[in-house]
Amino acid sequence: MSDALAPPSSPTDAQLHGKACIECGSDGGPFVPAGHRHIETCAGRAPLGWAVVACPEHAPAVTE
Ligand SMILES: [Zn+2]
Repeated sequence: MSDALAPPSSPTDAQLHGKACIECGSDGGPFVPAGHRHIETCAGRAPLGWAVVACPEHAPAVTE
């Protein structure tokens, strides 16, 4: 067996609540909005949409 492929990591509470970068988990701001992530919190239930944030390093490209 190989563990080369890590399972998808579940965002932490801090990440889901906009207190840590959704990409790296850093809690050092300033954060910028990084859209929404839909996370299945319970099997059989519709995924919840969470407004997440990203640190400057992982901020999404703004094309406005
Ligand atoms: Zn980050």
